Amino acid sequence: MSDEKVGWHTRLLHAGELPQNSAGAINLPIYQSSTFEQREEDTTYDSLRYIRLNNLPNQQVLAAKLAALEGAEAGVVTASGMAAISAAILSCLRAGDHLLAQDVLYGGTRAYFSEDLTALGIEVDFIASDDPRDWGRARKKNTRAIYVETLTNPLLHVTDLAGIASFAREAGLVSIIDNTIATPINFRPLEHGFDLSVHSATKYLNGHNDIVAGAVVGSAQLVERALHKLNHLGGSLDPHACFLLHRGIKSLKLRLDHQSQTALALASFLQEHERVERVFYPGLASHPSHARAKELLGGFSALLSFSLTGGKEGAERMLRRVRLPHGAPSFGGMESLITRPAASSHASLSAEARKRLGIDDGLIRVAVGIEDADDLIADFAQALAG
Ligand SMILES: *Cc1c(COP(=O)(O)O)cnc(C)c1O
Repeated sequence: MSDEKVGWHTRLLHAGELPQNSAGAINLPIYQSSTFEQREEDTTYDSLRYIRLNNLPNQQVLAAKLAALEGAEAGVVTASGMAAISAAILSCLRAGDHLLAQDVLYGGTRAYFSEDLTALGIEVDFIASDDPRDWGRARKKNTRAIYVETLTNPLLHVTDLAGIASFAREAGLVSIIDNTIATPINFRPLEHGFDLSVHSATKYLNGHNDIVAGAVVGSAQLVERALHKLNHLGGSLDPHACFLLHRGIKSLKLRLDHQSQTALALASFLQEHERVERVFYPGLASHPSHARAKELLGGFSALLSFSLTGGKEGAERMLRRVRLPHGAPSFGGMESLITRPAASSHASLSAEARKRLGIDDGLIRVAVGIEDADDLIADFAQALAG
């Protein structure tokens, strides 16, 4: 089903589905079989059905669904977000090439770029500026691709996405964006001129804190190249994890709308609290990216961060007192999760590097789950009262 006029809930259910499942099943059965009988038409290696070759119905239906949700020609699901990122990057870059990347990136991505790509002979420059002209100045003769994130973690910054996509187009670079935090509901990168969109489907797409998965979405040609790379690297998603992701995606908008409303209510509560110094949620008018987020995104997602008076000790005390959110990294699931980025996602950076990124020791990140807003607010109120 490719009708883009139908509503989001309908699309999430019906896009990419087969016309009929075997035995009339409402849900696509799990084809938990590593290999399949060879058919006469299976004349190439890639046409042999095998889990690693990403051509099982569970993998293909999900790929078609994800492509449809972002208005793309093609997609592929992967074993993790990092499998999606590495396959996408390695399908565009080789030794001697140069990559321009945003400086604030998911920690795993940043480490992969600075350690592994460099070891492969791929040069990387991290760009601190939002201004596409600065990206232009950092471009070299061997620059082949640029890499950004729709919303950064944990401060939820939105860079000049349209400007960067058009700079990439003019300069003939492949533009790649990590759309994990926005999801296809809030941002569809290809409509804004990006070539490839990558996801950690571990987060909102799956939505249940129970699997890791990823996806690459884009033109048929670029996705084919990423798939080829993925098949060599071995990052395919297992059929059972496909089933869970497939089930999770159907409720994406229900969850995200509810979680985003709660995030706004919690952010507004925190902003008024005397012990809170600053709140970072792009849905608040006080957020530096509020205007750009409002212009470019369909919604503000459900991640927020805030800093307390009393710095690190104040934050640690609050983390000990709060009852509903689990003290765990990751986000996008049903359960609210809470962390102190300086001691979790950004612990590997030096204190100085964290400071440069605006992540002070007292900063707390909340991944808002589906609990009732009133309950979460009451919990934060009691935790801050102590
Ligand atoms: C979690 C995450 C990743 C990595 O995904 P995995 O599924 O853990 O491999 C990449 N990018 C962003 C923005 C993430 O939040």
